[in-house]
Amino acid sequence: MAEHRHDVAIAGAGAVGATLALALKHAGLDVVLVDAGGLASDSRSTLIAAGCFRQWEALGVGAAIAAGSQAVHAVQVADGPGPGASDRGGVPAWLRFDAADLGGGEAGGPLGYMVENPHLHTVLDKALAEAGVPVRKARVLGLAAGPREATITLDDGSTLAATLAVGAEGRRSAVRAAAGIKVWGWDYPQSGVAATIALERPHEGVAQQYFLKSGPLAVLPLTGQRASLVWSERRDAAEALVAASPEAFEAHLTRRFGEFLGRPRLIGARMSFPLSLQAASSMTAARVALAGDAAHGMHPIAGQGLNLGLKDVATLAEVIVEARRLGEDWGSPLVLDRYASWRRVDVMSALAGTELFVRVFSGADPIVRRVRSAGLALVGSSPLARRLFTREATGALGETPRLLRGERP
Ligand SMILES: Cc1cc2nc3c(=O)[nH]c(=O)nc-3n(C[C@H](O)[C@H](O)[C@H](O)COP(=O)(O)OP(=O)(O)OC[C@H]3O[C@@H](n4cnc5c(N)ncnc54)[C@H](O)[C@@H]3O)c2cc1C
Repeated sequence: MAEHRHDVAIAGAGAVGATLALALKHAGLDVVLVDAGGLASDSRSTLIAAGCFRQWEALGVGAAIAAGSQAVHAVQVADGPGPGASDRGGVPAWLRFDAADLGGGEAGGPLGYMVENPHLHTVLDKALAEAGVPVRKARVLGLAAGPREATITLDDGSTLAATLAVGAEGRRSAVRAAAGIKVWGWDYPQSGVAATIALERPHEGVAQQYFLKSGPLAVLPLTGQRASLVWSERRDAAEALVAASPEAFEAHLTRRFGEFLGRPRLIGARMSFPLSLQAASSMTAARVALAGDAAHGMHPIAGQGLNLGLKDVATLAEVIVEARRLGEDWGSPLVLDRYASWRRVDVMSALAGTELFVRVFSGADPIVRRVRSAGLALVGSSPLARRLFTREATGALGETPRLLRGERP
């Protein structure tokens, strides 16, 4: 029997769990995090849209995260060969989104930030310690939902009791499984290879996305004339890219990406991630809410995964804090339904939109390639369409929870 009941127990101290813990702690809740320590070797970087980054500013960690991150001022999309790429087989089409496309109150600010995951976790861990959020180093094994509380079982033999348990432990969520929430989805025949490169010429804060025949290649700007690669390839080709010598990898990249930023030089480790789509059949169950990859995981082609998770955080924090203010039980189905229905449309449209992207932009079919080139050219020539696309990319559409407006819940 657990002796103390927390307001909220969060399984998983990744970016989603840690941000939610900070938001709830700042609102005066008694919150505890449990993490199995799985992100220690995560050397990737993540593109965070300005609208989602605002949440970290509201929680007092924005300046520290931005200080080690690269502001992204434009996104450039090329279909097939772009300038400098030596593949001559397709039809090039360019689309460029600039921060200026945003207009209104967003004008002048960056489109988003390229945040290095180790830096992000360092800042969030420090903020959690300063805020006094306890982080238990343990693995969640199971969960039992009672009428007033959820009891979480940990692999160190102890239990935790909380009014609400949040599953934020990524795609293999133990909370989700214990709550009996099913997942649906499918594997793609691709893996994403993540790596960091040094460039010979300045990237000027421009994120490049190339839709190549074999899959998308993103070259995303990092501080200090470096860039983060997310290179989607057939699984066997991706394994070969990871195993290749640095020289062979660099030569292959140069053939695909071109030399307009100079010859790329590999720095640091290469990692490959099998790509899949995965969605929970429900974001809630008795005394349980899911957030981040525990609720939805997708292809990184559109850089939506963590952005979507941060929108979950802003929404869930607001629903919990509001319920507490009204004297309601924030673990009750009535309150949790508000979270699930607020997130439903955004999550489904992100999953459907990403899947459409994968199908349209990930294939070598010549007819599909011509149609998408025409589509890119059409969007590129319409200022209104460009503005709409950019606002969606920065997470600025739809009903916006307070944290995404830069206010605390
Ligand atoms: C190659 C690649 C590139 C990407 N690029 C982008 C991008 O540019 N922009 C973007 O928005 N998204 C991107 N994503 C997606 C993004 O990485 C994920 O959406 C994000 O990491 C999800 O965060 P999370 O906190 O939900 O889960 P995770 O990051 O998976 O964190 C889960 C945490 O839970 C812990 N844990 C796991 N199981 C247990 C357990 N049983 N008990 C206790 N703790 C547990 C783990 O140790 C970990 O700390 C990319 C993904 C890939 C693969």
